[in-house]
Amino acid sequence: MTAWSAWQMRSLLLGSHQRTLDDVGGRFTHDFSVALAQGSGLDTAAVTAIQAAVQTASTKNILLWVENPQMELVASSVVASADAIQLQDLRTHVNFSSKSHLVPMGEPSRYLVVCGVALENQQQTVGNLYLAYDVSSQHQAYTTYLRHLMMASLLLLGLLTGAIAHCVRQVTQPLKAISDTASKLSATDLSPITLDQSPEEIAGLIEAFNAMLLRLSEAWEKQRQFINDASHELRTPLTVVDGYLQSILRRKDNLNLLQQEALGTAAEETQRTIHMVEEMLEIARADSGQLVFDLKPIVLYPLLQKTLQTIQARHLRSLILRDPPGPIIVLADPKYLQQALVHLLENAIQYSDPSEAICISLAEQFDHVSITVQDTGIGIDPKHLNHIFERFYRADPARHRQGGTGLGLTIAKAWVEGMGGTIAVQSQVNQGSTFTISLQNYNFSKNHDDQHSCC
Ligand code: ADP
Repeated sequence: MTAWSAWQMRSLLLGSHQRTLDDVGGRFTHDFSVALAQGSGLDTAAVTAIQAAVQTASTKNILLWVENPQMELVASSVVASADAIQLQDLRTHVNFSSKSHLVPMGEPSRYLVVCGVALENQQQTVGNLYLAYDVSSQHQAYTTYLRHLMMASLLLLGLLTGAIAHCVRQVTQPLKAISDTASKLSATDLSPITLDQSPEEIAGLIEAFNAMLLRLSEAWEKQRQFINDASHELRTPLTVVDGYLQSILRRKDNLNLLQQEALGTAAEETQRTIHMVEEMLEIARADSGQLVFDLKPIVLYPLLQKTLQTIQARHLRSLILRDPPGPIIVLADPKYLQQALVHLLENAIQYSDPSEAICISLAEQFDHVSITVQDTGIGIDPKHLNHIFERFYRADPARHRQGGTGLGLTIAKAWVEGMGGTIAVQSQVNQGSTFTISLQNYNFSKNHDDQHSCC
């Protein structure tokens, strides 16, 4: 808008003075031809006529001068004012053009509208008439106006930007809150979004989002209830079936080999299903926040020794427990920690060669302690690595042991995270896997608290 106004004002300034200069130029050419008609000898007559015409046509405000074809000054009007323009100076700034144009001049800055008229005598150019109108004061007013317009535009632009930013913030703040809530959503936390103030459209969106969360949490609750009920309902009959199968198998002398094999398989599958039902129940408990962890300081080494003894009672495997330099104490629930370790060790045994040893080591790293279970077994393909903690995920059932459920690591993760720890895995196909449980270092937090209480 400012640029357009500047262009408009410049055109107006030039246009209005073009007419005045055309009038004076017309009068001059008329006077010039009249004076020429009275004179004698071409050059002398022209010069005399020019000088006469300049005097006649000159006005107070307009400066006229004539140059011959060799660009020498032939005549000029008198400049009366004290701050008169130096004609010599002006002549160096001006180029001949019949169209009026703005000519800026030195210090103090002056502006003139200048245009030219070609003078002819008997179809021969005898010189050029220049007409200059001093528009410095108008130009000054016009630049002041433009400066004000520019400042007002900038101010308006600033206000507009501020207002737009405010509106955008009004809209994006609730959207950010929605995105934050959405990123934190989990089965256990489906709490609705609450915002004090938000635009109407966003309020509608939040309402729809909260309604969706409510439906989700209802569906999730139903699913949880279903798993819980189904697991409970299945466990009792399966235990009964297993009991019967075991008692028949104990009296296997009455059975032929084929019947023994069939009943053996049925008993194995029943036990596997009971195991799976128990795991599903545990997951349902973890999902509904029913798992209660009794966190207390535990000296790790003796707990690990006990765990390894339990495992060695079931499997003939070489398990190496590395002795830590000092007593390492973690904050954990011994029952759940032991169960998680048993599961990792069972997996390590299942997925590695019986001749290979399994190493268990402890390390203290400032605020946390890590327990690693390392095997040199079949390893896990990188494409499965990110999924093995998902429920029912089995990396490659065809390659791996029969009888797994794909729930063990999900439960181990829920237990470890329930104790405020993390569980991670590193693995390479045919090289082995290393599972690491990290838990809060009791020694570190105790020292830290002591230091704080000392201060
Ligand atoms: P599963 O009952 O099938 O063992 P898990 O949840 O314990 O279920 O393990 C999920 C999958 O992770 C397994 O099916 C297996 O493919 C892979 N896995 C777990 N531990 C190991 C290991 N030590 N070595 C190789 N693969 C493993």
